[in-house]
Formats: sequence, C-alpha cells, structure tokens
Amino acid sequence: MDKEFNELFKLRIDKIKLEGNKLHVKRDSKEFVQALIQRGEIESSLSGNVEVSLAIYKSTDVIVAKGNLKACIVLTCSRCLNKFKKPVDIPLKITLLKKQDFPEDLELTSEDLETGVYEGEEVNFMDLILDHLILAIPYAPLCKPDCKGLCPVCGADLNNEPCSCNTAWIDPRFAILKELKEKIVKKG
Ligand SMILES: [Zn+2]
Ligand SMILES: [Zn+2]
Repeated sequence: MDKEFNELFKLRIDKIKLEGNKLHVKRDSKEFVQALIQRGEIESSLSGNVEVSLAIYKSTDVIVAKGNLKACIVLTCSRCLNKFKKPVDIPLKITLLKKQDFPEDLELTSEDLETGVYEGEEVNFMDLILDHLILAIPYAPLCKPDCKGLCPVCGADLNNEPCSCNTAWIDPRFAILKELKEKIVKKG
C-alpha cells in the first residue's frame, strides 16, 4: 500500500480534541481498489471517488469514530454476467480499545468487526474502513431484482430479447398426463 495513502486515516491520539475531530477524505477510488487487491478482494472494483467522513472522539482509553463511506462499486451480475455500478453509502461505527485493556484470550468474531485495538501514540482507521467496504460487497450481485439472466441453451441475454430456444421444463408427471390427453383427443 502506498505510504501516503496509508497515512490518510492515521491520527495522533494526543491530537484528538475534547469536542472531537473531523476527518474528511475524498480520493480517486484507484488507491482503494489497490488496497482491496492487497487484501485479496480481487473480485470487485470501484469507480469514481471514494468519500469518507469520520468524527472521532476519545474518552479515557476508548476511541470512537462515526461517519460514513460513499463509493460506487463495480459488480458483475451473477445471472446475466453484465457489469453494473452500485453506489453505496456505508455507515461507519468504529470502536478502538487500548491494547492493554483488551483480554488476550478474547477471540474476535465477525460480529466484532467494528471493534479494534490501538497501541502507541497513533491510530489508523484504514483497515477497519476497508473491512466495512468489503462487507458491503454483495455475494451474488444482481443488476436488477428481476434480472432474467442468460439462456442456458444459446447464451443470449434474456433481458434484451427472448430467444427462440425451448427451455421450458415439464414435470415428468405432467408429461405423462399430456401424452394420455393427446391419445384421448386422437381417439375422440
Ligand atoms: Zn443481470
Ligand atoms: Zn436461447
């Protein structure tokens, strides 16, 4: 990760004011995509700018950051395989506990995503912000809720126009009924 980029969400703890600090970052998404790739999230891309707003507060040994992240995620539809953009506005709520106050044997689960630890003179919210961004990426994205997907026979995008393939699946039990019916009609 680019050093300067990694500094974006760093803050010296003694610089946190009583009334809180505001952090506002608006950057081209390229560096965020790079950071996601380094985290192993190569499936998704971002478009345009990423905008992060954070208000940071400190009380004794707990640091709390609240705000939001605005980005535009580029996704591939799981049905029709078309790429589409999904704007997201992700609420951020991060709690950092001082390392010495943190029980060693306490294992973090996915539910503790918003809680981290800090030690030393400064905090860096970057990793926790990226965690939030990764969680906002859907597992099986859909370009629209009623996407018709691709024809399993000819591969045509059925959102554009229906193809002429016969893909209707007939329940075998109904097929027997249909046959019987045809026989009866013929006899009649
Ligand atoms: Zn689709
Ligand atoms: Zn077809």
